[in-house]
Amino acid sequence: MARLSRAFLFLLAAGCATPTEQSASGVDRMYVINCGENHVKDVSRWTPGVNVGQPHVFANHCYLIKHAKGWMLWDTGNADRIAALPGGFTNPQGTITAFMRKPLAESLKEVGVTPADIKHFAMSHAHGDHSGNANYFTAATLYVQRAEYSAMFGAEAQKFGFIAANYEKLRANPAMILDGDHDVFGDGTVTIKAAPGHTPGHQVLVVRLPKTGPVMLSGDMVHLQYSWTYRVVPSFNFDIPRSMATIDAMKAYARETGAQLWVNHDMEQNAKLPKAPAFVQ
Ligand SMILES: [Zn+2]
Repeated sequence: MARLSRAFLFLLAAGCATPTEQSASGVDRMYVINCGENHVKDVSRWTPGVNVGQPHVFANHCYLIKHAKGWMLWDTGNADRIAALPGGFTNPQGTITAFMRKPLAESLKEVGVTPADIKHFAMSHAHGDHSGNANYFTAATLYVQRAEYSAMFGAEAQKFGFIAANYEKLRANPAMILDGDHDVFGDGTVTIKAAPGHTPGHQVLVVRLPKTGPVMLSGDMVHLQYSWTYRVVPSFNFDIPRSMATIDAMKAYARETGAQLWVNHDMEQNAKLPKAPAFVQ
C-alpha cells in the first residue's frame, strides 16, 4: 500500500511540470529529503545553559531543487553506509549516534534523479552530517566559500571537525570558490549567502519558490527554531561572535525579503513539511 501511494505521488509530481512552466518560473520545485537523524545525550551543547543533561533527536535533511537550468542539491546528510548499521553510528566521544533510515541514493532514485544528474552542488558546511554523501556528486559544479574550501582541503581539516574522507573526491570538481553571496542561476531564484561562524565558511541558501515564496535553508546557522528566536549557538562553534553577527544579518535579510527560515535539524518544524517524493513549490 505504501509503495502504491508513493508511486502515485511520483506520477502526480511528474505529471504537472511541463517545460513551459519550468522556463517561466526558474525554480520549479524543491524536494525536502529525510537525510538521517542524530540522537544526542545532552542537547545543551547546542543550547548552552538550557536543557542541561537532556537527550534530544535532531532531524537531518537534504534539499533537491529543480531549476530550468538543471538540478541542484543542497547538503548530503548522514553517510548512506550508516543505513546498514541497525544501531546507528556513534562518534568516538559517545555523544552522538547517527542514523540513516533511507540512503540518499535511494531517495534520489525515487524522484528519478541519479547523482550524475546533479549539476549544481553546495553544502552549508563540511561537517559529517552534511557531507556524508558528498563523494557521489563529482559531476557537479561545487559552490563553496573560500574559507570553507581552505579548511576542508588544508592540512588541518580535523581541527574544524571535518572528516576529509567524506568529500575527498570533490577536490577534482569544477568549483566556484566564493567570497560572499552568489546568485547560482543568474536569475535571483537561488542565492547562496555567506553565513560564517559555525564553521569558517558556513553558508545558507535562499530559494524563491514559485508558490511558497522565499525560503532560507539554515544549514547549521541555527539548530532549532528556538535558537533562531533567542539567538542561541552551540558552545563548539568555530567563531561565536561571528555566528551571532550572522544570525543578526540573516534576520535583517529575512525581514526585508519576507523569507521563511527552514531549520534543517529541527524535528518539530520539519514534521510539518512534505517530504520527498512529494515536493514544495
Ligand atoms: Zn549539522
